[in-house]
Amino acid sequence: MPQDLKTVFESGKLAVIPTETVYGLAAPVGDPALIERVFQLKERPLFNPLIVHISDPSQIEVYAMDIPDVAYELAAMFWPGPMTLVLPKKDMVPDLVTAGKPTVALRVPNHPLTIDLLKQFGGAVVAPSANKFTQVSPTSVRAAKQWFSESDVTFFDGGHCGVGIESTILKPDPNSKTLFVLRRGMLDLEKVKGVAEAAGWKMAVDATSETPEAPGQLKVHYRPKSPLFVFPKGCDFDLGLVNGYLVDMGFSSVTELRYLDLSDESYLAARQLYAAMEELSSDESALVFVYDHQQHSGSGWEAILDRLGRAALRFQMIP
Ligand code: AMP
Ligand code: MG
Repeated sequence: MPQDLKTVFESGKLAVIPTETVYGLAAPVGDPALIERVFQLKERPLFNPLIVHISDPSQIEVYAMDIPDVAYELAAMFWPGPMTLVLPKKDMVPDLVTAGKPTVALRVPNHPLTIDLLKQFGGAVVAPSANKFTQVSPTSVRAAKQWFSESDVTFFDGGHCGVGIESTILKPDPNSKTLFVLRRGMLDLEKVKGVAEAAGWKMAVDATSETPEAPGQLKVHYRPKSPLFVFPKGCDFDLGLVNGYLVDMGFSSVTELRYLDLSDESYLAARQLYAAMEELSSDESALVFVYDHQQHSGSGWEAILDRLGRAALRFQMIP
């Protein structure tokens, strides 16, 4: 296993670190030069803010201020875990991290190796997904290695990510006492709503109305190499139909369809999703996921379908 984070950063490299959601490309929050390198290596536009990863919920006050009680309640309930809180930022958080926004996104990841690395480092890191912008997020070190070279980054292997898709992003708005869900993830939104309501807040699922507050809100994201199609169960489709769509949209036709065969259990399907999209991708094929309205329902499936929708060239709704 490689060295500690301090040694990696002092050598001018970034670190690829495991989290329970996806692997992250990490740089210290206080090092603008290395943070710029994150944007550069990811080819990520500067208007996309980054999530600050802390090792302990108490550090929330180092980076955020005017923190409403509901944020503490949520932190107590869901951290460490796949939840990101967007809160008013303190001056010490560089504008580069927040894309000039007055808010900062914070999370305590639930991965023992990364928590140890962060504690030993003694500071927080930004850690966007360790892939190129708009591409499929990595859920293993092997997947992250296709995007970056050992000369630029040091890889820390923490096994396959347990959750498998990006965190749920929540933003409390004290004026309206509303907790906005900016990006869906594997957090159970019924539970989130329960915490919000107990604190006298309402919850609003608002993944599209605000201008891209979160990159996960961009329409094209998580794209695999093969074109992806989502068809509803019972829909009559075949290779000819898929090729018709591809040619209409200006893409080359393919010779075979490969099926994304995900578990019906959402927590397992989330874990499988990105690895399956990657492993099945090839130049000759199109990927197909067959969406079953009956089976694929509930908060976890909504998050998975959100990712599939952004990854797909065509997401055919139930007629
Ligand atoms: P990624 O790095 O691709 O996993 O995405 C990190 C997510 O956190 C993105 O969707 C960011 O836009 C979101 N995020 C970071 N900072 C903020 C912020 N200040 N307000 C809203 N969303 C944010
Ligand atoms: Mg990403």
